[in-house]
Amino acid sequence: MTRLDHDSCVCAVCGEVRLHTLVSSSNQLGPPDFDTRPAEMLRGTLLFWVMECLSCGYAAPGIQAADARAIPIVRSPEYQHFRSNPGVREDARRFACYAFLLEKIEQFADAGWAWLHTAWMCDDRDDPDGARHARAEAIRLWKRGKSAGQSFMEKQIEEFALVTDVLRRTGDFDAAREACLEALTLDKIPGPVEDMLRRQLTLIQQKDTAAHSMAELERPQEGKRVTLN
Ligand SMILES: [Zn+2]
Repeated sequence: MTRLDHDSCVCAVCGEVRLHTLVSSSNQLGPPDFDTRPAEMLRGTLLFWVMECLSCGYAAPGIQAADARAIPIVRSPEYQHFRSNPGVREDARRFACYAFLLEKIEQFADAGWAWLHTAWMCDDRDDPDGARHARAEAIRLWKRGKSAGQSFMEKQIEEFALVTDVLRRTGDFDAAREACLEALTLDKIPGPVEDMLRRQLTLIQQKDTAAHSMAELERPQEGKRVTLN
């Protein structure tokens, strides 16, 4: 069950005090999507993962604190222009603004994640163009992060698996297949990840750009009755 709280928060950039919605607790009623997006109930709290100051536009998971480097960036005309970016739908913009800030302070791996969260917001609002753009930005930032020595997941196999899904959902099927095949050459691939990668090859072949869940891959447990339809 999800519990939301409303707390009065002071913006670390401009000092404005306003009520913000915070996720106090939530749960997941099933396995995640291939791109790690959690199942409900946590899935439904996405909008509240990033707070946005309506006065200065500062966006972060907690706007009560700010990296010293972020403050002049938020105040810059470039950020303020990006904040009204018509290329990103308004209800997803807080994620894109957070990504923008992270990129500027060279936290590329986290910036990529913020773009993936932007894509999820676009998915929920049936905005495929916005979602495609956001996923392409996630890939760009993760690549940039890797060149700077920043990992975006704990293990290399997890990174390949995630990139495969993000590329497939972007419609870049050649690159998705390449990432998937490279992943399958790695040693000691955990069973569920290998199942997912093999499923990805089929989805790529079918030019499928839809979201898929790890629930599709669950193997029947011993003693569990299996029905064919
Ligand atoms: Zn502010």
